[in-house]
Amino acid sequence: MKSVSILGATGSIGTSTLDLVERDREAFRVVALTAQRDVAGLADAARRTGAELAVIGDPALYGALKDALSGSATEVAAGEDAVVEAASRGADWTMAAIVGTAGLLSTMAALRGGRTVALANKESLVSAGALMTDAAKRHGATLLPVDSEHNAVFQCFDHGAPGSIRKVTLTASGGPFRDWTLDAMRSVTPAQAVKHPNWSMGAKISVDSATLMNKGLELIEAFHLFPLEADQFDAIVHPQSVIHALVDYVDGSVLAHLGSPDMRTPIAHCLAWPHRMATPCQRLDLAAVGRLDFRAPDLERFPAFALAKDILAEGAGRAVILNAANEVAVGAFLDGRIGFLDIALIVRKALDRYDPGSPSCLEEVFAIDVEARAVARDAMETIGA
Ligand code: NAD
Ligand code: MG
Repeated sequence: MKSVSILGATGSIGTSTLDLVERDREAFRVVALTAQRDVAGLADAARRTGAELAVIGDPALYGALKDALSGSATEVAAGEDAVVEAASRGADWTMAAIVGTAGLLSTMAALRGGRTVALANKESLVSAGALMTDAAKRHGATLLPVDSEHNAVFQCFDHGAPGSIRKVTLTASGGPFRDWTLDAMRSVTPAQAVKHPNWSMGAKISVDSATLMNKGLELIEAFHLFPLEADQFDAIVHPQSVIHALVDYVDGSVLAHLGSPDMRTPIAHCLAWPHRMATPCQRLDLAAVGRLDFRAPDLERFPAFALAKDILAEGAGRAVILNAANEVAVGAFLDGRIGFLDIALIVRKALDRYDPGSPSCLEEVFAIDVEARAVARDAMETIGA
């Protein structure tokens, strides 16, 4: 039996993970579940799975969670430190599915436990990639990529002979505005931006997919996960989301990973790794799909992707700014304070105005993150938000 913890258990990735875990009660025992504010969702999941521990991030909701779990054997805790403690509880397998750099400390805590960490929380890797992969090495932890493209690369990559690989290509659906003009994108609403054509996801990553910042973050994520040079990673728009990534070898062979767009497939790959488990995901029917299309990303209409691509060779401090400014700008867009095209504009302004060195420890990452958020908020004021 594998013991599992899920950080961010009430989100899109968290609930997909629970769905798989709950299908096989003999195979998995739930140690800890965490959420930020969804008391009802967390308590319900804890009761269903008999979790040892349930943690709510917002300390004001401790009483509500305690009430919701009264009479159950689940231990209850609240607050940021308690989330990190939950991550250190020694589960065999931890899903890191908190959104944003808010997940960095808990993901690090799970890695320091030296077991298996399935990583969905890409923002932590973008901000602290080298520190995280170092921690995994030092503590003997296994870091498995959940992000569908990276999970696809992981499955096609010859880990014993990275020198035989010429190039890694991530695919991007292109998001809901793939064919829109810049002018039309000016008036995009949050409701339009969170409606992804192929994948069902949390609000923040849905907006990132619509700006293509998600693909930019994913290039940086890939750079930290796979031992290749920055210029060996690229992305291509593929509207059907059937191929998730391609690995191009020196002999001309190109290995691609295909599957229906359902996150339960890469999650199951991580959950069962190094074995395989069955999932209820829809089987890929290529005859029904009919055709696969590809085109290069349009850097003019999707400047966020271009910003992230440039950062790849510019050093770790720049990636922290890119990510932090993007988190601030996406939050402001979802709150209706800035327009859709302002997101990339704010990120660019933050990058122009602030240029710290590379962080050498987590404290420095957080210091740059805090400063970058302040610079991004300042930049928002200059555009009248
Ligand atoms: P989501 O918004 O649906 O869920 C986020 C989870 O994190 C929730 O459980 C929430 O309670 C928790 N959370 C939010 N803020 C928190 C905070 N400050 N402290 C502690 N917990 C907090 O997001 P999601 O779509 O499940 O995405 C989660 C992560 O996985 C993101 O980093 C995203 O980029 C990545 N990811 C998601 C998908 C997808 O299909 N949804 C695919 C690839 C990667
Ligand atoms: Mg992805």
